[in-house]
Amino acid sequence: MSEHRATEHFDVIIVGAGISGIDAAYHLRRDFPEKTFVIVEALESFGGTWLVHTYPGVRSDSDLYTFGYEFKPWTGAPIATADEILAYLGEVIEENDLARDIRYQHTISTASFDSASATWTVHGTVGDDGQPLTLSANFLWMCQGYYRHAEGYTPEWPGMETYEGRIIHPQTWPEESDIEGKNVIVIGSGATAATLVPAIAGTCAHVTVVQRSPTYFWPSPNTNEVADMLRQLDIPEEWTHEIVRRKILFDQELVTQLSFQEPEFVRDELLNMIRPLLPEGYDIDKHFTPKYMPWRQRLARVPDGDLFTGIREGLATMVTDEIETFTPKGLVTKDGTVLEADVIITATGFNLSVLGDIAFDVDGEPVSWPDTVTYRGAMFTGVPNMAWVFGYFRASWTLRADLVSAFLVRLFHYMDEHGYSTVTPQLRDVDADMPILDWVNVEDFNPGYLLRSMHLMPKRGDKSEWQHSQDYWTEKKIFPKATFDDGCLRFA
Ligand SMILES: Cc1cc2nc3c(=O)[nH]c(=O)nc-3n(C[C@H](O)[C@H](O)[C@H](O)COP(=O)(O)OP(=O)(O)OC[C@H]3O[C@@H](n4cnc5c(N)ncnc54)[C@H](O)[C@@H]3O)c2cc1C
Repeated sequence: MSEHRATEHFDVIIVGAGISGIDAAYHLRRDFPEKTFVIVEALESFGGTWLVHTYPGVRSDSDLYTFGYEFKPWTGAPIATADEILAYLGEVIEENDLARDIRYQHTISTASFDSASATWTVHGTVGDDGQPLTLSANFLWMCQGYYRHAEGYTPEWPGMETYEGRIIHPQTWPEESDIEGKNVIVIGSGATAATLVPAIAGTCAHVTVVQRSPTYFWPSPNTNEVADMLRQLDIPEEWTHEIVRRKILFDQELVTQLSFQEPEFVRDELLNMIRPLLPEGYDIDKHFTPKYMPWRQRLARVPDGDLFTGIREGLATMVTDEIETFTPKGLVTKDGTVLEADVIITATGFNLSVLGDIAFDVDGEPVSWPDTVTYRGAMFTGVPNMAWVFGYFRASWTLRADLVSAFLVRLFHYMDEHGYSTVTPQLRDVDADMPILDWVNVEDFNPGYLLRSMHLMPKRGDKSEWQHSQDYWTEKKIFPKATFDDGCLRFA
């Protein structure tokens, strides 16, 4: 006890000043002005994903009416650049006086829960010189995202060491990338490639996109008709935000349902949307028809179809094949296609990070995440006073950050009213025979970074209490109704 109280103590420590951490802080300030909290952030500023990613063209693939917060109107074009998102987050921080609660360059490496004092003690480092850091809190609100911020995922290909050009991962885009006038290969065709390729297609000599398998793209104008119409009528921005948000969510629910009920129809519709944007006779089957059905991986929005403009104008070429080997001048694919490039950009995804790679223990017992079962995708069996914001894949991440915030606000009120200091998820007797499954159903959603690291993730059950369903439209109904007396949460 004395060790905990000797350190700086808060009611809540929020880890991460990205979109989720700022959401958490907003709710704490609004609903519990008397509670003390701090946001600890490893980076030198706020924004997380939107600060880390600086590659040309970096932008959202969700619309900002739903990727933005429920409480703060979005007034720009639906798809936003990283700078626009950072500016929006900066306004949220300023308008809610959150700057004083954020500590930058504070990196947490361990978190220990002591049941006797119901206290988390976190250790880490501060600043460039790594000064030791110790803080304590009653509750840990983990908003550290889901991937390693320091480095993206690059597979090992044969001959990579022989390549004489430069290899760049978009997540660690160099300040001086020097791609102007160069021949560039982009490996990968996910959302990152879809935003990067149009941004560089006019600058470099030529871009060749090498993809193992195609991705679905959804071209649409970067405007919202309903928002434009409401603005013409001088409707207050708060109303416009709420109405447009509801309309987008309504439409997305239909598309999501249709993707599962009539996947072939949705696939054909998506392909029909890109057909007119490509040259006559283009091999859409080979380059743009994925092996999976729509929505099993994130659907990449392409504002104004800009990805296809480069292909139409001969500035970008698609190659769909596996890489056989790198060569000193480029690479060779399995079917023998030889490609030369001055720069190779590996848009090959993330390294999953479970709970920020922080070593957790409870009363000295290390927490092994695959041995835990998630309570509603936010808390974990046997781990007291801790929640993690893990957003949606098919809908905007922030929708879940808002749901988790609202849930924790209710939970904190409940604990305060009953004088509880500890809440720990636990499986009930009725859950004894419940199948224990992977974090997500890979038939349902299967991005590479999850498939590579699923064994590190917490588990889920087959009941709604014990899973993150990835279904916003169901969860927005059931999460707010979750009760605290159903035995899933043990209070003390
Ligand atoms: C390029 C790109 C585009 C994306 N576009 C979309 C989109 O359009 N729509 C969508 O829904 N999702 C999108 N995503 C997913 C995106 O990551 C999330 O939507 C969202 O930004 C995550 O916010 P977050 O605050 O939870 O995590 P992050 O943005 O990852 O922020 C986490 C923060 O926690 C800090 N942190 C981590 N570990 C520690 C530690 N141990 N100690 C201290 N601080 C720590 C990090 O430094 C970071 O600042 C995109 C992702 C990428 C990479």
